[in-house]
Amino acid sequence: MALELDLGPAALAFRTEIREWLEANKPKELVGVSTDMVTRGRVPGASEWAAKLTEAGYMCVSWPKEYGGRGLTGIEVAVLNEEFARANVPRITRGMGEWLVGPSIIVWGSEEQKKKFLPRIIDGTDRYCQGFSEPDAGSDLAALKTRGIIDGDQILITGQKVWTSGATEANMMFCLCRTDVDAPKHAGISYVLLPMFNEDQTSNGVELRPIKQPQGASHFTETFLTEARAPVANIIGGMNNGWRVTMTTLGNERGGHATTQHVEYTKQFWEAVKLLQKNGKSTDPVTRQQLAWAYSHVEIMRFQGLKLLSEVLARKEPGPAASINKMFWSEYAQKFSNHMMNARGAEALLIEDDKNGQYVADRWTSLFFQHRASTIWGGTAQVQRNIVGERVLGLPKEPDPNKPRPNAQ
Ligand SMILES: Cc1cc2nc3c(=O)[nH]c(=O)nc-3n(C[C@H](O)[C@H](O)[C@H](O)COP(=O)(O)OP(=O)(O)OC[C@H]3O[C@@H](n4cnc5c(N)ncnc54)[C@H](O)[C@@H]3O)c2cc1C
Repeated sequence: MALELDLGPAALAFRTEIREWLEANKPKELVGVSTDMVTRGRVPGASEWAAKLTEAGYMCVSWPKEYGGRGLTGIEVAVLNEEFARANVPRITRGMGEWLVGPSIIVWGSEEQKKKFLPRIIDGTDRYCQGFSEPDAGSDLAALKTRGIIDGDQILITGQKVWTSGATEANMMFCLCRTDVDAPKHAGISYVLLPMFNEDQTSNGVELRPIKQPQGASHFTETFLTEARAPVANIIGGMNNGWRVTMTTLGNERGGHATTQHVEYTKQFWEAVKLLQKNGKSTDPVTRQQLAWAYSHVEIMRFQGLKLLSEVLARKEPGPAASINKMFWSEYAQKFSNHMMNARGAEALLIEDDKNGQYVADRWTSLFFQHRASTIWGGTAQVQRNIVGERVLGLPKEPDPNKPRPNAQ
């Protein structure tokens, strides 16, 4: 295990409290199951564990107490994550509801919206997916074309979204739509909490077409919206003010997992070491060098994560420096899963399953496929570099390709 920091007596008391609770309550059947496995598929016992965590107040722990959270500081969240990792049980969260939508509602929502939507995230009633990207609006998200038209006290949303992660498991979408076509592109967007089903459980104008991934799973969909209806009261941050809410959401997507990451990656690192030792591959000098590289990177991630999360929680909104975090972990994860493929050699090849004739990817091969996308979602690595260059380091902006250069003849 990594060096445990001395974070002061209050953090130590909190650590003891969590450790004792986990010892008394952790479900035996989930020991050794990673958070990632629970997020990616149905694991027996996971929903009971989620209910127990909710009841004990271990969901949405960094949200303020007045909104049903635990009001934990960055340091306490880090301690909590470390203790779950030590107990070797998954720290189940409410996914995008907890990390992306909830914090955006807390910053931008009215009191009424906070009272209505936040408890439903905590108790798992509302499971959100993110309806931002469109076929021609990814990095340039403000180019989105999905229309939102006001019809009395409702907004009707029509358009196409793509790469909608977790859409088949969700019942709500936080959706961006254009509500003023004449305004400059960043100014005419609204951020709507869109129910995906009507009260009778029929579809609310939402059609999902799953996209098949190389490892066989379909974690995201193409999403077609045809006059999907939401109450106008579900617009967060006010009509045409959706871009500012989006910045809060994206800041959390890039920086909000800062303390969780190193815990999973530390665990994964030691599991990789064990596997390579077992397979007799850990004596290879190139592999050893790569493991040393990985260890030091996970440690940097840990310290950077603690620093960033304290800043995030103090200011309540993640700033552009969250992009450093996104860039660092995603490139690390991609490179590490690549090293694992190389180190394992032929063992890493896909194996045909005798029973159903499909090629099956094991955990490490799945990670290799999965992390090809980590430098894309939540803003690509190139886009993060632009943000860091322009908004953290204060470098000049990229030239606008539509404007003539000052020195052009
Ligand atoms: C696994 C996965 C899950 C996702 N989940 C969701 C989700 O749940 N909801 C959702 O709304 N979206 C989701 N996305 C979409 C994701 O946000 C977009 O793919 C991403 O923003 C990039 O957009 P794009 O795919 O249109 O690529 P493009 O924007 O077309 O980019 C293509 C290439 O050009 C580069 N590029 C573009 N602009 C610049 C620039 N200004 N400077 C330098 N380089 C640039 C990019 O870095 C990239 O290499 C997901 C994507 C993936 C892969």
